[in-house]
Amino acid sequence: MYYKQYGNTDMKVSAIGLGTMRYDEEDIKAGRLEKCAEIPLYAFEKGINYWDTAPFYCDDKSEIVTGIALSQVDRKKVYVTSKTNFSTLETETPDRDVFRRRLELSLDRLKTDYIDFYHMWCMLNLESWEKHMEALYGFFEEAKSEGLIRNIVFSSHMQGNDIENVVETGKFKGMLIGYNALNYQFRQSGIRKAYENGMGVVVMNPLGGGLIPQNPEAFFYLTEGTDLTVAQAALRFVASHREITVTLAGCTTKEQIDDAVKAVEGLVEEPAETVAERYNKKGKALNNLCTGCGYCKGCPKGIEIPKFMDAYNQKILTGKEEEIAKRLENHWDIEKEISGTCIACGKCERQCTQHLPIIERLKEIHALS
Ligand code: SF4
Ligand code: SF4
Repeated sequence: MYYKQYGNTDMKVSAIGLGTMRYDEEDIKAGRLEKCAEIPLYAFEKGINYWDTAPFYCDDKSEIVTGIALSQVDRKKVYVTSKTNFSTLETETPDRDVFRRRLELSLDRLKTDYIDFYHMWCMLNLESWEKHMEALYGFFEEAKSEGLIRNIVFSSHMQGNDIENVVETGKFKGMLIGYNALNYQFRQSGIRKAYENGMGVVVMNPLGGGLIPQNPEAFFYLTEGTDLTVAQAALRFVASHREITVTLAGCTTKEQIDDAVKAVEGLVEEPAETVAERYNKKGKALNNLCTGCGYCKGCPKGIEIPKFMDAYNQKILTGKEEEIAKRLENHWDIEKEISGTCIACGKCERQCTQHLPIIERLKEIHALS
């Protein structure tokens, strides 16, 4: 396993981390939690010492499964995470007792006295972050001073500039963000800033929500010059960034762990610009894809543009028009007719980071039989 230094701490963490949101669904449903725990135990054997969990993953069983495994290894040799925020606790009030009970439950389930990285979870935008800071940061600090959590971190779907603002506060040891071969242009300034500020950077969604491995032909360029599969190459793409500390791989099987471990064998770290330059050249053919960056949000007709453009991606990637409707229906559960409400105001196109012809694409989607 390849290890990296976590920010300006003395922690050495594995370049691949275990994402624990993919324990086998059947086993989870049947209550075979000991069997699920074989996954983190196998990951540990393979040198993966960063385990990322949270309440509600896997039907709210992920922390329990992870705790079963954690209790069977040398606790000091694993860095375990968990998360909390207002929306998952279904509370709008800054009642610290509610958060305290939630933290105690996480500790209990994880069978541990402390959590190494506790996340202010899923900060969607600066507004939500500010709200959490005001109401919750003090709670995090208290928990830290009591030794219940070791490091205060945040997870976010914010874009580069917003992330930079959060990083600059100096309030966090690290962050967890989505980053992959599809959206890296929009997240690079954030990860660079975090790195320069001595923060650890952990990456979720390195496979672009499955879009990358599901379209191996389109993303074949990632594998050039390697003996890796597209999924492994996508993990390596992320892990090779000097600025990124841990790349999370959500694993259901031991084979997937082996695959992820292989992805970082003999890893060479490079600055984000160098990685980007290389892949920009190779990936030119895919620059008409929606990256899901979300900059186009705020349509006056309430059209969820990123979802429609994601569905349109399927046509570009597969060459099959019928894939658009399938994606809208099966993945997003959204009516294609909504695309017909576009009044062509042009707001979204002016904001689109990829300069996509959104209006034309919506028209095309609406005209689909
Ligand atoms: S052009 Fe259409 S989709 Fe774009 S913001 Fe205007 S109404 Fe919404
Ligand atoms: S349509 Fe453009 S702005 Fe909107 S999510 Fe896709 S790439 Fe981003």
